[in-house]
Amino acid sequence: MNSFTQRDKAFVWHPFTPQHDTMPANIFIERAEGVYLHTKDGRRIIDGISSWWVNIHGHSHPQIAQALFKQASTMEHVIFAGFTHEPAIQLAENLISVLPSNIKKIFYSDNGSTANEVAIKMAIQYWHNRNIKKKTIIAIEGAYHGDTFGAMAVGDRSLFTAPFTDYLFDVQFIPFPTTANEREVIESFKALVSQNQVGAFIFEPLIQGAAGMRMYSPKVLNELLSIAKRHEVICIADEVFSGFFRTGKFLATEYVEIKPDIIALSKGLTGGTMPLGVTACSQEIYDAYQSTEMTKAFLHGHSYTANPLACAVGNTSFRLLFQEDCQQRISDIAKSHAEFVQELGSDKIREARQLGTILALEIQTQETTGYTNAIRKKIYDYFLNQDILLRPLGNVIYIVPPYVITPEELRKIYEAIKSFLKSI
Ligand SMILES: *Cc1c(COP(=O)(O)O)cnc(C)c1O
Repeated sequence: MNSFTQRDKAFVWHPFTPQHDTMPANIFIERAEGVYLHTKDGRRIIDGISSWWVNIHGHSHPQIAQALFKQASTMEHVIFAGFTHEPAIQLAENLISVLPSNIKKIFYSDNGSTANEVAIKMAIQYWHNRNIKKKTIIAIEGAYHGDTFGAMAVGDRSLFTAPFTDYLFDVQFIPFPTTANEREVIESFKALVSQNQVGAFIFEPLIQGAAGMRMYSPKVLNELLSIAKRHEVICIADEVFSGFFRTGKFLATEYVEIKPDIIALSKGLTGGTMPLGVTACSQEIYDAYQSTEMTKAFLHGHSYTANPLACAVGNTSFRLLFQEDCQQRISDIAKSHAEFVQELGSDKIREARQLGTILALEIQTQETTGYTNAIRKKIYDYFLNQDILLRPLGNVIYIVPPYVITPEELRKIYEAIKSFLKSI
């Protein structure tokens, strides 16, 4: 065991990692640049999953680093109640300029889970402030909205939530829409909302990331949203993963006509550099909080709300994102994925799914699909041995690359996938 491993094991508790002594050592990354993670012992690993879907412009981007340094040298942080600053105002202006036209206000928090917590609380208190009893919340089976309690409550009950199930509030789940059950899903949604008890509907638009990159059609989402609107249900789009052009458009909800009332953003927001969450809402939601009474205020805030460093980096990332070369790369990645799916056509793949820069390949296995599927470790190790970081969700191999990835680097991943499929 080298000294990093020893020190790491001595005091550090890592996420999603069973804490037993025989676990392989965590890989020590010394620096990261572009799509590469550089290890202490000279390996160069391609980050094929954008370090948990956050990185979009590549690691250690010089302009982002510059923005961070400049902001840190001016003002690192300031309380955001009673005070304000340019980076936060600017980022709100930037976001509002591209969000759906009904979205008018930006509330800051720290990550994807808190962006959803805020969204859920905003929706609940909206009805409370208006003195209307609409207590039911609807979510979609298989949903993942984060690891904090409210976010867990509106998420799938699974291995991840099992110890906490008794502490999670009740939510009505509708089945995940497929081509086979569309009518059934719509009917069950209708039945739920028709009693006018439903206050909010939270969903990952078009793609459930953590559930295995499961995709569903814009048509069915549009129908659900139109039913929700007719019954005055607040629609919360969790765009934490799907936002910032991950699906080819700025938001996945841009593929549907009807607009959500609340949008949660995080992952791509700062280009993968600083933790930051945004909950964006309509004027109508905001107006329900306009009062001279403190009881009507949204009494929620984090120590680091609208952290200037995170906001400054968010503004730089935003500018880079809309530059022509970045936009070109996003469409090139999508095109390249689509061509690779055609090229593959393997009998070992149960289903190939692609949406924008996301490619997911569900491998045929005897075992049921799931995160704990034994093939997961086999896939992970196979690619890591070739210096490619892919972190399969059960038997689903997926690529979610930083947008700066070159055609050659993508090709390297594709070829590794082909040889993996041959090996099984
Ligand atoms: C990752 C993710 C979250 C949680 O975000 P964190 O920053 O990890 O808390 C919530 N919703 C979706 C759709 C996600 O993919």
